[in-house]
Amino acid sequence: MRDVCIVGGGVAGLAASIFTARAGLDTLVIDGGESILARNASLENYPGFPDGVDARRYLRLSREQARNAGSAFELGRVTRSELIDTNDLESGFRLETEGGEPLEARRVIAASWSDSDYLVPLDVGRIQRGSKHFVSTDAAGRTAVDGVYAAGRLAEEPHQAIVAAGHGAKVGLAVVHDSDANFYHDWVAPAGYFTGRGRDVPPGCEEIDDNERHRRDERARAQLLEAFDEPLDEAPTMHPSVERD
Ligand SMILES: Cc1cc2nc3c(=O)[nH]c(=O)nc-3n(C[C@H](O)[C@H](O)[C@H](O)COP(=O)(O)OP(=O)(O)OC[C@H]3O[C@@H](n4cnc5c(N)ncnc54)[C@H](O)[C@@H]3O)c2cc1C
Repeated sequence: MRDVCIVGGGVAGLAASIFTARAGLDTLVIDGGESILARNASLENYPGFPDGVDARRYLRLSREQARNAGSAFELGRVTRSELIDTNDLESGFRLETEGGEPLEARRVIAASWSDSDYLVPLDVGRIQRGSKHFVSTDAAGRTAVDGVYAAGRLAEEPHQAIVAAGHGAKVGLAVVHDSDANFYHDWVAPAGYFTGRGRDVPPGCEEIDDNERHRRDERARAQLLEAFDEPLDEAPTMHPSVERD
C-alpha cells in the first residue's frame, strides 16, 4: 500500500507530489489525461519566467522534478474510490482505474480537475456549480473524509497555474503533517545555518557546503540549458468544441 496516491498529474498534483515524495512518503501520481494547462498558448504570469514559458515545457519540467523527488507515475483514469474496510476508517483507500489493477493508498489527494465522480462512494462533500463539481475542503485541503484531500482547481481555487501549484504544495504538506513523517520544513540551508548555532538540522531540512552548492547549481544549469535549447514542437490543445480544419 502506498502512503499517498495523487489522482491527477497536472499543476496541483505534481506540486503536491514533490512535497510528499521529498518528505519520504511513498508517492504515486496517477493521471488519466492531460492538464488543462496544455491548452495555454504562452504562460506569462508564473513567477520565475520573466518573459513567460511554454506551458507544455513547464509541465514536462514539473514532471521531471516530481520524478527526481521520488514520485512514481502511472497512466490511468481513476473511476471509483472506497474504504478498504468500511469498519475501519484508518484502513486506507482502494482506487479503481479504467482497465488497470486497483491501487491502494493510506491517503488520497484528488487533484483531478475537472473530474471527482470517483469520489462519490466516499461522500467527501461535492459542490455543484453549473456543469462542474468542486470538492469542499478546509484551508489545508482536507475533505470531510479523514485521509482524503483535494487540491488545485478541484478544490475551488482560482483558475491560475501558480495558485494551483501553491495549493498543491500546501495540501502535500498537510498530508506530510497528518502522516508519521518526522518533518519541520523542506529547506536546504548553507552549512552551519543550524549546526553553527549548536542545533541539530531539523527533519526535512538539509545543510550543504559551498562545494555541494556549486555542484547542484552546475547540474541545475546544465539541465535547464538542455531543456530550453530547442523550441518545443507541440501545439496547445484546442477546446474540444472548436472545429478545426
Ligand atoms: C486555454 C487556457 C489557458 C490558460 N492560461 C493560463 C495562464 O496563462 N496562466 C495561468 O495561471 N493559468 C492558465 N490557465 C489555467 C490553468 O491551466 C489551471 O488553473 C491549472 O492547470 C489548474 O491546475 P490543476 O492541477 O487544478 O488542474 P490540471 O492542471 O488540469 O490537472 C488535472 C489533472 O488531473 C487529471 N485527471 C482528471 N480526472 C482524472 C481521473 N479521474 N483520474 C486520473 N487523472 C485525472 C487530468 O488528466 C489532469 O492531468 C489556462 C487554462 C486554459 C484552459
